[in-house]
Amino acid sequence: MEIKKGIAVSPGISIAKLLIIDSEDYRIPRRQIEPSQRMMEIQHVRDAFKAAIGELTEFEAAQDDTEGGKIKDIFAVHLRFLHDRSLRKRITDLVYSESVTAEYAVSATMREIASHFAKQKDAYISERAADMYDIERRLLKQLLGGRREDVEHLTEEVAVVARELSPTQTAAFNRKFVKGLATDAGGRTSHTAIVARSLGIPAVVALEDLTECVSGGDTVIIDGNRGIVIVNPDEQTIQQYEEYSQEFAQLEHKLDAIREKPAVTRDGVKITLLGNIEFPDEAEMVLQKGGEGIGLYRTEFLYLNRESEPTEQEHYEAYAETIGVFKHRPVIIRTVDLGADKYTQSKRFAPEPNPFLGLRSIRFCLQNLTMFKRQMHAILRASVLGDVKIMFPLISNLQEMKQATMILRDVMDDLNEESVKYNKDVEVGIMVETPSAALTASTLARDADFLSIGTNDLIQYTLAVDRGNELVSTLYSAADPAVLRLIRTVIQDAHKAQIDVSVCGEMASEPEYIMLLLGMGIRTISLTPPMIPEIKQIIRSVTVQDCNNLARTILGMNSERQISNYLRDAARKILPEAF
Ligand code: PEP
Ligand code: MG
Repeated sequence: MEIKKGIAVSPGISIAKLLIIDSEDYRIPRRQIEPSQRMMEIQHVRDAFKAAIGELTEFEAAQDDTEGGKIKDIFAVHLRFLHDRSLRKRITDLVYSESVTAEYAVSATMREIASHFAKQKDAYISERAADMYDIERRLLKQLLGGRREDVEHLTEEVAVVARELSPTQTAAFNRKFVKGLATDAGGRTSHTAIVARSLGIPAVVALEDLTECVSGGDTVIIDGNRGIVIVNPDEQTIQQYEEYSQEFAQLEHKLDAIREKPAVTRDGVKITLLGNIEFPDEAEMVLQKGGEGIGLYRTEFLYLNRESEPTEQEHYEAYAETIGVFKHRPVIIRTVDLGADKYTQSKRFAPEPNPFLGLRSIRFCLQNLTMFKRQMHAILRASVLGDVKIMFPLISNLQEMKQATMILRDVMDDLNEESVKYNKDVEVGIMVETPSAALTASTLARDADFLSIGTNDLIQYTLAVDRGNELVSTLYSAADPAVLRLIRTVIQDAHKAQIDVSVCGEMASEPEYIMLLLGMGIRTISLTPPMIPEIKQIIRSVTVQDCNNLARTILGMNSERQISNYLRDAARKILPEAF
């Protein structure tokens, strides 16, 4: 039995056999095969080359000659390597002579060549190392593709263990069979954690070397409440966990009972609780948990797990389904937030060196206008079905906001010409997720109908801490005084401009922050659906007066540690079961 400690990101307990998933960028372990399997593995190598050549030839043909044909040239170089018989032979020889898997032989050979290139003084040759890694990834994608499908065709319950999972992989899980998730990498607000929470799958991340301590088929307990993973637990531990799991389910049941009760503080202040969703079918869960609408619909998930972009009609249908659940209650549709860890990197020829600071979110949309307009066309069309609002993500200056709004107006003009009905007064808001937006919130608020504070990104950009990197996860905290001051500024500026302001980052799902947010003036919260009852319970147990006092004390503190301890103690007194 081995106990590993990580970060709890999605509540619940799971006890299941584990399934290990290799991710594209992960170093492939050396796996020995029987000599009788060698010819089959060699055939896999050949097939992978053939498929990779086919894929690249198609990409090459689809490229136009923009950027001086540079992209075409790069494809051509890769194709030359893939057609090189000696390269293929070197890989198949390794499979044969050492009885290893096709993926190991590909990975080891390509990395050896890459490191040889990287050492060369000639810049042209040393830069070819990146091409070698790219070819390796392309071949591995072919070789591991089949194995990855395992997760989509499961027949028994498993706990998935991986070095790292992309939001795309997590979103593809069959919810019926995937009972828990544990990863070496990741942080509390990494998108994988967010998806696990929405799907209600217990998850622990930042376990650092878990994948090196387990083998497929081991039993694991994933404790998504305490951030613990136990590998091959003994009988007694399993029994204790089964009891604990039942107690936890009872608490959930008890909290679900307050579904019909309003989210009102003891001194009568109404708080609006909305849900964050990634897929239309989650809207029902928001309703069941007592949510009053959707405060954040992450529409980019429509793009994941598919090769082609969604059509306008597919966008429309997804929105119509969500709006159908809430009829005349608010549904805030966020325009796509692609880039960074979602979608675009795998489609790019050369991944961006700093994707979270790169062509992400609204920036990506403003450079891909056809796609952006297609989505807005669908949202506007759906706007007549209910109380739809549009929200632009990651706005970091006034110009971006004006550009995005101008494009929305263009789409409205198109709809007018096509005589298509839409709500001409649709509210348009922005997410405040960067320090630049927070510091200029008073200006942005003049042109926005509402602001929504995206604390997940606001924290990472304010503190310069990658939200998905386990090595710096202890530095990532909503309780940092710098973050709190920015949040306070945004709230005050929105109040001055008399527009709505909400919080939709994960901070709003964490019990210890609720009193503080209310005390800072927040009256609308959008959060992960499973947490709605717990947060409502806290709201119903406090007075705004208490919250104001707490906020005043907290904002006078200078240390993150002191703030977190204070908040935790205060919340523990109100809802001890949650801790
Ligand atoms: C945020 O950044 O707080 C947010 C809600 O957006 P996302 O988590 O999708 O980046
Ligand atoms: Mg964000």
